[in-house]
Amino acid sequence: MEYLLGIDLGTSGTKTVLFDAAGTPRAAQTANYPLRQPENGWAEQDPADWWDAVCTTVRGVLRQSGASPAEIRGIGLSGQMHGLVMLDAAGDVLRPAILWCDGRTGRQCDEIVAAVGRETLLAVTANPALPGFTAGKILWVREHEPAVYAACRHILLPKDYIRYRLTGEFATEASDASGTNLLDVPRRRWSETMLSALQIDAALLPRVEESAAVTGKVHKAAAEATGLAVGTPVVGGAGDNAAAAVGVGVVRPGKAFTTLGTSGVIFAHTDEVTIDPQGRVHTFCAAVPGCWTVMSCTLAAGLSLQWFRNRFCAAEQAEAEAAGVDVYDRMIAAAAQSPIGANRLLFLPYLMGERSPLLDADARGGWIGLSNIHTKADLTRAVLEGVAYSQRQCLDVFREMGVDVADMAVCGGGGRSPLWRQMLADLYGCPVQTLASEQGPALGAAILAGVGAGVYADVAEGCAAAVQVGQVQQPDAQNAAAYEPFYRLYCRLYPALRESFHTLAGL
Ligand code: ADP
Repeated sequence: MEYLLGIDLGTSGTKTVLFDAAGTPRAAQTANYPLRQPENGWAEQDPADWWDAVCTTVRGVLRQSGASPAEIRGIGLSGQMHGLVMLDAAGDVLRPAILWCDGRTGRQCDEIVAAVGRETLLAVTANPALPGFTAGKILWVREHEPAVYAACRHILLPKDYIRYRLTGEFATEASDASGTNLLDVPRRRWSETMLSALQIDAALLPRVEESAAVTGKVHKAAAEATGLAVGTPVVGGAGDNAAAAVGVGVVRPGKAFTTLGTSGVIFAHTDEVTIDPQGRVHTFCAAVPGCWTVMSCTLAAGLSLQWFRNRFCAAEQAEAEAAGVDVYDRMIAAAAQSPIGANRLLFLPYLMGERSPLLDADARGGWIGLSNIHTKADLTRAVLEGVAYSQRQCLDVFREMGVDVADMAVCGGGGRSPLWRQMLADLYGCPVQTLASEQGPALGAAILAGVGAGVYADVAEGCAAAVQVGQVQQPDAQNAAAYEPFYRLYCRLYPALRESFHTLAGL
């Protein structure tokens, strides 16, 4: 039997999945670790916890599956992006890793913009300077912990630390490196412009490979710690979203996926690099060699529905619990009784401010058009529709950039709802499908491992062999026509309210 191992280093835990070459999960195990917040707005993890989780889960899947380690043809890593790991000359961790969700680097981001200029920054790194990204964290350590910085010899991203522990190699790959603000994203290599402007020594950074390239082999100490076979190849792998894209088959133009999780993400494949000059959406290198992806992120997609449930649906929750059913299914069944447009009610899902495409932390949510006739079902439907409009608005930016989408996969908790998926299909104007497996990033990492190990000829072949589609929903022309005027009105509400939101933030 031939197996591929996908290791997904998430923020709450590491999930390791052993797949066969047809993409069927044969064993899976997750081990969680804490997130430390030593100060308000900070977020750190101990890389030793990640490594422990990898050792535990790899041993776990080997045990569960009964697979012989020699049958594992390759290992792929996927992981939380942007985190900063610093090692000394001996390869020891110098300080806790600073994570993607750490917000301490606002000032350093301003410094980056001042040093490079906004236009160059966008043209070279394809992204604005964001507090989540790695470069600001490096500057922060240099400023606040000079002794740590002086001792640092290696800078790694989270999953690349696992590669180092498995193989002894200092390597990353283009998709994850795209989230550092240091990569020349169009050229897929470290940017001399960025490094010299920020005075960061290139020797600190790992070499940049492609996602399906073999970057090293499991060494003896790692084999002893994990139960893997010495010499098992470890490929580049990918940042979590880029790995998920492979895991759902988004590997050629026209394909994209939407994640309706807490946040809402659309991730689309493109063969040519394209950058939004306004920075409303991100451009990253794809895990497919020589290709790119554009990504939007709205902050309160599933969160809007969750907030509504928590604040206003205690009775539904109690009923659902008593009946042993999912409260979201109950709420959405009621919302389905309300017509398209929710009886002339619109919802703005800006509960956390908004990132794509508004870039406005002060934007706020609301129902617009409330009337005495409205019921809870209308309010719920408006929430679902508002979130769907916010995704369509992001997709319109992609289309403006020449990245069209003809085929959309949906993942995340919100993707479980057929009504929500149908709204997306109607608003996107393309089929929307679920996937048979929920293993997105781990499967993507395993497919990349299969390419590196020669099990598949290339990423597209790997996806054809291993990604299984679930249910497909087609857009309905009548529904689409009914949504359109509400969507157009939705797009006009934020500009009309922007000044009021800013005033409100200042009161
Ligand atoms: P996370 O982004 O935190 O990983 P999930 O992908 O699990 O979370 O998504 C959680 C969100 O999915 C919830 O906030 C909720 O809005 C939505 N959700 C969960 N279950 C359902 C369901 N059955 N129908 C519709 N939406 C759901």
